[in-house]
Amino acid sequence: MIIAQDVEKWYDNNFHVLRGVSMTVTKGEVLVVMGPSGSGKSTFIRTFNALESYQKGKIFVDGILLSHDVKNIETIRQEVGMVFQQFNLFPHLSVLQNVMLAPIWVRRWPKARAEEVALQLLERVGILEQAKKFPGQLSGGQQQRVAIARALAMQPKIMLFDEPTSALDPEMVREVLDVMRSLADSGMTMVVVTHEVGFAREVADRVVLMADGLLVEEATPEVFFNSPTEERTKKFLSQIL
Ligand code: ATP
Ligand code: MG
Repeated sequence: MIIAQDVEKWYDNNFHVLRGVSMTVTKGEVLVVMGPSGSGKSTFIRTFNALESYQKGKIFVDGILLSHDVKNIETIRQEVGMVFQQFNLFPHLSVLQNVMLAPIWVRRWPKARAEEVALQLLERVGILEQAKKFPGQLSGGQQQRVAIARALAMQPKIMLFDEPTSALDPEMVREVLDVMRSLADSGMTMVVVTHEVGFAREVADRVVLMADGLLVEEATPEVFFNSPTEERTKKFLSQIL
């Protein structure tokens, strides 16, 4: 569970990028974050695993206050997995090695256990047969599924996705969204920045609109897409629908 209370952040001590954002994501919930470019979506979700600091307000992840305490940050990073637009795989490691790496180094798992779990995850995301290949030999959709398997290998309680399909060719978007959908069905708590309206409609429990560092609307997908309250949301939707 994530609780953000009046979170404010400035970049370089002057650019007020998050201007008082409050939001709760309960266990098993899927929250989709939408909003125009530059509105602070990435910055906001990156605060949830301490990739970004913040200056005011509070963020709790599973009851742990995210602060500058290094010990907390390490615990949080183990509990909160993240998948990025650019897959960020290690190019010199095989698919299997990419997925095994963190459990071995961070969780101190024996190699055999890490390999067993990695193979199970590769099967779960539908690319077991690619295990021995290197990232450069895979399609974008396959690489993104490796990135998801790699994040899941740490057995996170929460998964963050930052525009996971925006860098993909259209025909590969579906295979990644299908993996995310089945992850949601398995009960994973997820925060997903995406403009995939179909995914948001079908999978999200709630959709929020972020604009200019504020959450301007929060609603069920049904209400968000069919009868939003805020002018800002209507304008945004008119541009993407
Ligand atoms: P997009 O849809 O394009 O990914 P976003 O909503 O994710 O946008 P952010 O990446 O969070 O937006 O950026 C919000 C604002 O903060 C932008 O104006 C951006 O230029 C600025 N910004 C982002 N990272 C930094 C940084 N490291 N230093 C200074 N400014 C930054
Ligand atoms: Mg972004």
